[in-house]
Amino acid sequence: MAKIGQAFLIRYGEIALKGQNRSEFESALERHIRFALRDMEGSSTWKAHGRFYVEGVPEEHSAEAIERLSKLPGVVSVSPALKAENRIQDIKDACIRAVSAAAGNLREGTVTGEVVTGARDELTVRRKPTFKIDVRRSDKRFPLTSPELNQELGAAVLRAVRGIAVDVHNPDIWLKVEVRDVGTFVYWQEVPGPGGLPLGVSGKGILLLSGGIDSPVAGYLAIKRGVSIDALHFWSFPITGERARDKVVEICKILRNYNPFLNLYIAPFTKIQTAILEKCPERFRVTVMRRMMMRVASRLAEKQHALAIFTGENLGQVASQTLESLRVIEDASAYPVIRPLICFDKQETVKLAKEIGTYETSCLPYEDCCTVFVPKHPVTKPKLDQVLEAEKDLDIPGLVAECVDGIEKFPIDES
Ligand code: ATP
Ligand code: MG
Repeated sequence: MAKIGQAFLIRYGEIALKGQNRSEFESALERHIRFALRDMEGSSTWKAHGRFYVEGVPEEHSAEAIERLSKLPGVVSVSPALKAENRIQDIKDACIRAVSAAAGNLREGTVTGEVVTGARDELTVRRKPTFKIDVRRSDKRFPLTSPELNQELGAAVLRAVRGIAVDVHNPDIWLKVEVRDVGTFVYWQEVPGPGGLPLGVSGKGILLLSGGIDSPVAGYLAIKRGVSIDALHFWSFPITGERARDKVVEICKILRNYNPFLNLYIAPFTKIQTAILEKCPERFRVTVMRRMMMRVASRLAEKQHALAIFTGENLGQVASQTLESLRVIEDASAYPVIRPLICFDKQETVKLAKEIGTYETSCLPYEDCCTVFVPKHPVTKPKLDQVLEAEKDLDIPGLVAECVDGIEKFPIDES
């Protein structure tokens, strides 16, 4: 019996280009791969040929492993593969097994992920599934050349798998066979990952997380660019209820698929909101409220050694999101305010929210502290001197200090 094992090929793109930082980026990604598979006993990870390889994941965890690996920032794609010893019979067996499985999946229409370039994932039943074998032999000690191997393997598959045909131009199953010094890898699927940079290599950021559609997507985009995010939610209990907070917790659970170390901080915001209601002219309330959020977030950023504040703000969507307004809000922040969605159309944000899995949770009804608070005619183009005048009666240092003192790290896993 041939010894054929399961393996995963993990491709990363951009990080290979980053010169000096390369080894730092690679070791970050390697740590995240190991962490993602930490509960899958027997799995091992190693790097070669500008990729990571994972072996030893128990068969029953295979689907879960692909799911997790394909969510890691920095990963361009993941291919589940069969690994055979560098012996012709073993390689043939692996190819036969792979093509049988692929053809079976095609007939049943259960193909997951994206099929390697040029192949299709749906077939009309009346036609035989077609395949092509594509050998790359980087272990030159192997006795057969690539064209010879192509021939031999193709013939073996044709003999062994029923109801299948060859098509070298546009096959349904494009089987890649890579003969490496450590063994031969056979695969036909490529599940796309997020791309970007490994988590943490860009430093840390504080995400202002509201529970709406936008801020989770902004957080995801930051994570994808290597920023390790902690979320900060301003909670105005009892003006907003526990359900509003629970929704934010649910969103954090989803974001943890991409950033497993994400923490959620809840800031008590009621006192600040009440003070603004009492002491600021109605038209400026939203602007002043956002400036208070920036001040509190800046203090948290300092404590957590974060380098920037991220929001889901988007140009012109609501009155408080004009350039004038964004500038006045930013003025209260001690850190750069980064708005990944600034130039997105709503549909683009919604599409991404659906892809990353936050959309449904974001759409649950709840009372946001901001919706309760929005005046009928907010100022759309505030000037800084007007806003400074509007907030002059607030005890800003006192309110900020009290809010910062009340910030609690919310346990995401236990809820
Ligand atoms: P979202 O869909 O993220 O709520 P939005 O388009 O509805 O965004 P706003 O509600 O005006 O816009 O909020 C703008 C941004 O301010 C949010 O994306 C978020 O980053 C931040 N924010 C708003 N409310 C809160 C809150 N209660 N806690 C933390 N951050 C908030
Ligand atoms: Mg909102």
